[in-house]
Amino acid sequence: MIKPDGHDELRNPNMRRIFECIRLNGPMTKKQIQSAAGLSWGCVSMLCADLLKREILCEEKTPQATAGRTPACLEINSSKHLIVGLDAGFDHMTAVVTDLAGHILLCENRFVPDRSGKQILPDIRAVIQSVLKQALQGSIVGIAVSLPGHMDAFRGGSVWAHLFGNFEPERLSLILEEEFGVPVLLCHAPDSMASAEHFFGAARDVNNFLFIQLSLGIGMGIMADGQIYRGKNGSAGELGHMTMNPRGERCHCGNYGCLETFSSVESILRRCTEAVYAGKAPLLRRHLDSGGQLTLATAAEAARSGDSYIKNIFLKAAHYAGIAVANAINLIDPDAVVLGGELSGYRDIFLGRLTDTVKSHVWSGKTDLRAAQLGSNAAAVGAASLLVPSVFSKLCESGAAGISSKDVT
Ligand SMILES: [Zn+2]
Repeated sequence: MIKPDGHDELRNPNMRRIFECIRLNGPMTKKQIQSAAGLSWGCVSMLCADLLKREILCEEKTPQATAGRTPACLEINSSKHLIVGLDAGFDHMTAVVTDLAGHILLCENRFVPDRSGKQILPDIRAVIQSVLKQALQGSIVGIAVSLPGHMDAFRGGSVWAHLFGNFEPERLSLILEEEFGVPVLLCHAPDSMASAEHFFGAARDVNNFLFIQLSLGIGMGIMADGQIYRGKNGSAGELGHMTMNPRGERCHCGNYGCLETFSSVESILRRCTEAVYAGKAPLLRRHLDSGGQLTLATAAEAARSGDSYIKNIFLKAAHYAGIAVANAINLIDPDAVVLGGELSGYRDIFLGRLTDTVKSHVWSGKTDLRAAQLGSNAAAVGAASLLVPSVFSKLCESGAAGISSKDVT
């Protein structure tokens, strides 16, 4: 089992520094590496030779065409050590195969309706098997699984997510490690998305930021000094269970008045349903009576078309989410906040109100709110990126056993 902070045990920090330079900046000459990493020429030459020998790096395959002889650039070897990143969502399963730089070599998306707790492990197993069979090059040296809900990443599972029902087994990572024979890392979904935005999206220029996922549930990934902050038990960032009103509705976590009871997609849709039955949403009622579905999109359409009660449900949800985000900013003092999840796409009836509320409740007046830039692959790619430091450490120590497509039956 891989522990989330296993990279701290890295044998040679300078080797990692060179690797991270190329991971962040792309192909570089040794001279550029020397300048960016602040290492001596002799050190860069020796460690690059070691990284080439281990096939972690390779010489750039398609160098820029320039006149005359130019020094070769080194890049991360995308045909050798690969990672499976898996996003096991409430209604979908997305798996990617990436190289150590995070480039997606393969992607598979599956819609998984009506998921029950007992079906999660077979679903995860099936999609991993599927991408392993398709991965024709290199060898898989690790698997990272991104999961929603509350989890214990340090002990390898104990996942609890009320929308999953009774999720068994509790020791998911150990079961997958035994089955596939490579290290497995479990990641909290908002942490995965925060990492993806840090390496490939809206937060590339900042090392201290919050990623807020506004979706079926509400979660937060905390990036501190370029590392995910997980807390003592790996459960930091449960913004959705910040108490907004101790006399409020009972939350599925057992407490009362949590943010999720005000602002999650689930709570918005529940309030919309109640409004329809109470006769307060005629346009939405007409849509449902004609065979339409109640979704966030159809509720938003009714709100925009004149169902003022439905519009107020969205605005009230945005107001409480804004207060919670402002509280998080006051507490953490981040460089930026990246807003993601499906609710963040509703600028007119949700995001605008959230933004105004944040600005009026942050005491310092400093708010750098950004839209997430990555799409549906973000959690899977981000999970894979969180596994890279541990995999790199293993490769530097002794090489790592992997699996190739021919090993998969
Ligand atoms: Zn709660």
